[in-house]
Amino acid sequence: MNIIIMGPPGAGKGTQADFIKEAFPIPHISTGDMFREAVAKESAMGLEAKKYMDAGQLVPDDVTIGVVEERLSQPDCKKGFLLDGFPRTIPQAEALDKVLAKLGTRVEVALNIAVPDQVLFDRMAGRVSCSNCKTVYNVKFNPPAKEGVCDKCGGELIQRSDDNADTVRNRLDVYNRQTQPLIEYYEKQGTLKTVDGNRDPEDVFRDIKRILESL
Ligand code: ADP
Ligand code: ADP
Ligand code: ZN
Repeated sequence: MNIIIMGPPGAGKGTQADFIKEAFPIPHISTGDMFREAVAKESAMGLEAKKYMDAGQLVPDDVTIGVVEERLSQPDCKKGFLLDGFPRTIPQAEALDKVLAKLGTRVEVALNIAVPDQVLFDRMAGRVSCSNCKTVYNVKFNPPAKEGVCDKCGGELIQRSDDNADTVRNRLDVYNRQTQPLIEYYEKQGTLKTVDGNRDPEDVFRDIKRILESL
């Protein structure tokens, strides 16, 4: 089961990836999470990536593709994988196809979560996540039982530094220019499945589950 989950920032990729992971036991590979971990560790790659992330720009393709290639070559990806936030450019999609062909496999389904821009702004403004277990909440749409505290582990909830209004606007621009063309790329491959992401998370997942069960 080789799955890509795409959509603009704030569409609910991470939220749906958590549901998918529970129903289908495959590794969840989020390039955003990998970059945030590298930033926290202050590795050379992390310090490089941080400049782009803070500006709402994409980390350069050569860096990003290298990170993903290495992760996909690990043994746990043999049974399948869920790629979240990668590819985000045409060169990344082409590199992915090449790597998978070498491994004798391919992308089976590209899930595209569609959400209108105004909703995305509201979602990102309210997004907080656990500093310990990374669970994502929303102060407006999906609040924790106790303000500022993770339901699952009691960790502190924090806002991402790139979820401020200016950076969000940049990220949506970047999405429209660089990532949106992937919709046509996967449409042509016959693997694109678009779901309406402007509904309750459980309803969005019901559609995704049906698509994945039919693979
Ligand atoms: P969101 O969940 O808001 O879509 P992510 O957590 O996926 O954002 O990504 C956060 C940031 O990490 C991006 O704005 C970008 O700077 C960087 N990043 C993540 N994935 C990629 C990628 N595939 N290519 C380039 N940069 C990426
Ligand atoms: P992405 O990974 O695509 O950037 P997230 O999964 O982090 O998106 O979701 C962005 C924000 O919107 C989070 O605060 C999350 O709790 C909230 N959210 C996710 N899905 C929904 C939904 N279907 N309805 C309302 N809010 C949602
Ligand atoms: Zn937690």
